Amino acid sequence: MHIIRTPQDLRTILASLRHKGKVAFVPTMGALHEGHLSLITQAKQVAQLVVASIFVNPKQFGAGEDLASYPRPEMEDLKKLEASGVDVAYLPSAEAMYQPGASTHISVDGVSAGLCGAKRPGHFDGVALVVTKLLLQVLPDIAIFGEKDYQQLQVIKRLVRDLDIPVEILSGAIFREADGLAMSSRNLYLNQEERQLAPVLYQTLLAIKAGLVAGKMLEEMVADASDDLRAKGFTKVDYIELRDAETLEVVATASHPARLLIAAYLGKCRLIDNIAV
Ligand code: AMP
Repeated sequence: MHIIRTPQDLRTILASLRHKGKVAFVPTMGALHEGHLSLITQAKQVAQLVVASIFVNPKQFGAGEDLASYPRPEMEDLKKLEASGVDVAYLPSAEAMYQPGASTHISVDGVSAGLCGAKRPGHFDGVALVVTKLLLQVLPDIAIFGEKDYQQLQVIKRLVRDLDIPVEILSGAIFREADGLAMSSRNLYLNQEERQLAPVLYQTLLAIKAGLVAGKMLEEMVADASDDLRAKGFTKVDYIELRDAETLEVVATASHPARLLIAAYLGKCRLIDNIAV
């Protein structure tokens, strides 16, 4: 596995490897778990050359968020990437990624509004910028993103379409722990008690979905679920919302493909999850 740390070296190594065939790219922020590795498995199935990046992108963290404390187990991550058959591991520094005086911004309207976009102002601009840069640096045929970050996936699909970036975007289903908790690097923040409580988030989504199917009112179910989460020990519920599966517009019923999304805090740890409805 080649370990590369600058865009220049990446370009050089990829120029010598592209003859192998299609390139699939899996961007991550590291602290790798089986969810990330499932995307790499998918990449290996669709391409001959697999590039994975680890970059904790400062531009997608707001003031007071966990940029400084975000886990960075680089040695372990590299071992996992190598064991899963990645050809090129790309780990740029923030200095290599953002040159002094860089002044270009990318905003994807519509799908970035609401949900995490409303609760984390500027977050999706940071995501859009880094993903655009990474796609231009790697120039992959295919890039793979997880449904775990469902709004991010829709933002990236829209960005790629709007800017005519010549890459096919594929998505991977949410990889869960045995008790239903969606895997996330941030789960490392949970203490024992919080970890036991965390699967309630997924159970809440399943219960609301079942209620919708049974014809119950969404608004009432969301209000009850928020109260229930707080009573159980969740510190704050950012949102529980039903949205159109593609445009992410607010919908009141699941008469066509929709997505039920949730974000809530357990202590200082912000958890997100979503399911198809
Ligand atoms: P992150 O390192 O959290 O930025 O995630 C990198 C990529 O892995 C993103 O496309 C995520 O959506 C995806 N991902 C994170 N957690 C999971 C999971 N539990 N299942 C599937 N994909 C995931």
